[in-house]
Amino acid sequence: MKFHILTIFPQFFSGPFDHGVVARAAQAGTLEVVLHDLRNWTHDFHRTVDDRPFGGGEGMLLKAEPIFSAVESIWPQRSPGQKVILLSAQGRKFDQKVAREYLDCEELLFICGRYEGVDERVAEHLVDDEVSIGDYVLSGGELGAAVIIDAVARLLPGVLGNSGSTINESFESGILDCPQWTRPADFRGWKVPEVLLGGNHAEIRKWRTQAALAKTTKLRPDLLGE
Ligand code: SAM
Repeated sequence: MKFHILTIFPQFFSGPFDHGVVARAAQAGTLEVVLHDLRNWTHDFHRTVDDRPFGGGEGMLLKAEPIFSAVESIWPQRSPGQKVILLSAQGRKFDQKVAREYLDCEELLFICGRYEGVDERVAEHLVDDEVSIGDYVLSGGELGAAVIIDAVARLLPGVLGNSGSTINESFESGILDCPQWTRPADFRGWKVPEVLLGGNHAEIRKWRTQAALAKTTKLRPDLLGE
């Protein structure tokens, strides 16, 4: 899968994608991340990407022209498998379901907003999806793009060593993953539940389902509709 990121800070991504699952998948050729500097689609001496909002108000907005030019030159003709995503605090909420939805795409192009946001014509006439990573305001879309790419990348076939490892994770079946422990079995007197030490796999499966439900009830009752 190919991920494009349109940003005024391409150097921002030298950290997040250089480690772990995404870096390994990129090395193996399962995914590719292509960074595009929005300033490459400006035509003035100062490479201006922003301007003041009509009607007044604080701060600056990313202009529509360089963003449209960038997307139209990266994909002169967009196919159904190529989706443009605008990172925005106002977008629909990204979650595990949306991550799985994006798996159907061949390529995703993320537009990272900055300043006070992006000229609304980008949301109205250019993008396929306007997406938020949560109900809070970030300074830019770059962290959101990194979060989404990480979440989608680990679902790609072959990216995780054990292909079953995403299936039992939180949100996949609508509830949280079960709590887990590793050695030592007794740490400062806090003991691992006995059933997990016994090797009875049917019992362990049953216990884990109940423990996952208990944890969901305690920490995320909203997932159970409560
Ligand atoms: N004025 C905007 C508002 O109140 O909705 C916030 C703009 S924010 C300071 C600048 C950029 O950060 C946005 O254009 C967007 O790309 C990104 N951003 C901020 N919060 C985000 C969130 N929760 N999810 C995804 N992107 C976000």
